[in-house]
Amino acid sequence: METITDQHFDVQKIRAEFPVLDQKVNGHDLIYFDNAATSQKPKQVIDALTKYYEHNNSNIHRGVHTLAERATHDYEETRKAVATFINANEAEEVVFTKGTTEGLNLVAQAYGRKFLKAGDEIMVSEMEHHSNIVPWQLLCQQTGAVLKKIPITENGELDMGAFDQLINERTKIVSIVYISNSLGTINPISTIVKKAHSVGAKVVVDGAQAAPHQKLDVKTLGCDFLAFSAHKMYGPTGVGVLYGKRDVLEKMDPYQGGGEMIKEVSFDGTTYNDIPYKFEAGTPNIGDVVAFKEAIEFIQRIGHEALHTHEQKLLQVGSELLHKIEGFEPVGYAGDKASVISFNIEGVHPFDLGMFLDARGIAVRTGHHCTQPVMDRYQIDGTVRASFAVYNTKNEIEVFADALQEIIKKFKK
Ligand code: PLP
Repeated sequence: METITDQHFDVQKIRAEFPVLDQKVNGHDLIYFDNAATSQKPKQVIDALTKYYEHNNSNIHRGVHTLAERATHDYEETRKAVATFINANEAEEVVFTKGTTEGLNLVAQAYGRKFLKAGDEIMVSEMEHHSNIVPWQLLCQQTGAVLKKIPITENGELDMGAFDQLINERTKIVSIVYISNSLGTINPISTIVKKAHSVGAKVVVDGAQAAPHQKLDVKTLGCDFLAFSAHKMYGPTGVGVLYGKRDVLEKMDPYQGGGEMIKEVSFDGTTYNDIPYKFEAGTPNIGDVVAFKEAIEFIQRIGHEALHTHEQKLLQVGSELLHKIEGFEPVGYAGDKASVISFNIEGVHPFDLGMFLDARGIAVRTGHHCTQPVMDRYQIDGTVRASFAVYNTKNEIEVFADALQEIIKKFKK
């Protein structure tokens, strides 16, 4: 497949692939800057979902009829596409989940409960999404393991000095976010993996925000697990991926019991299926998994380089324009940052800003972004977060900055 070069990157052509963008909200052209929460879907994803239900809907794996074979084939084709997308050794290392949250819970329960004991340590950072904190807290309650926190610096980077001091022979799991959803910080995963592996710890990467922006290569990263969600990378909701290294997945207990995850069931005992099916109990979200392949194809067609260049330009323009606004207080300004701007405006509550922006057709997210420890770190209630995707434009950012100026003037009157 030919990818788009920077010179040939045409944002208007890309926008035309997203039907939802072509609408007015509250009398204004929609400007969608809530991409870190969920991205919009291109037509090819929507069409694939419709085609699945109009032509191929069937349960998978055990049917011998044509529709069952078609559905099974398409479902497994997505698994292969994901394996290629993340450079996994084999498709069997790709487990389908509901999303990042389920992937992280799966590792905590199916790996953690089996291998961790009282006194073992699990390390996460202060910038984690709640879904990479709470599953480990639950595991600590169940096993007596202890949760340790890597602090973050004032500009929103991991305090790697503190990490070096915290990591030790008792550390069994380091679970770390690749790109922070509330700060945009890109973390040095390969360095963390090397240090964690040197004490024998396993590394889990929360790739929810990385998947839409960054080339994900599990071999380069060296991580043991990687979790991400389709809906943040132009794919459907209700589908995610948990990548795990074969030898680790094979040693784990099942996560849930039910159909599909078994080989033989009897009242004398049950044997489990091979990976990845051992972790896919029950009927999965077949239609959305099938459509997810089109989201991967969409990203591959654009190419990570063109995508990155475009989004970094948006980040630069956005940062420059917002810094000119009176009272602008950025939250998180790491050197290595994805296209997310989190901020407050002195004297205006983020919820008020969010509502005034919505009245102008501009969708941003306000609040703690499921990262309350980050808000505690900066002693704030929340932020306004504008997160940019491949279909956003410089013009949209200019309209956004003008709208902010106008709102602030009203507030300061
Ligand atoms: N981790 C990060 C960094 C996120 O941004 C999110 C969602 O916002 C999640 C995990 C949870 O993803 P999901 O709700 O798709 O399971």
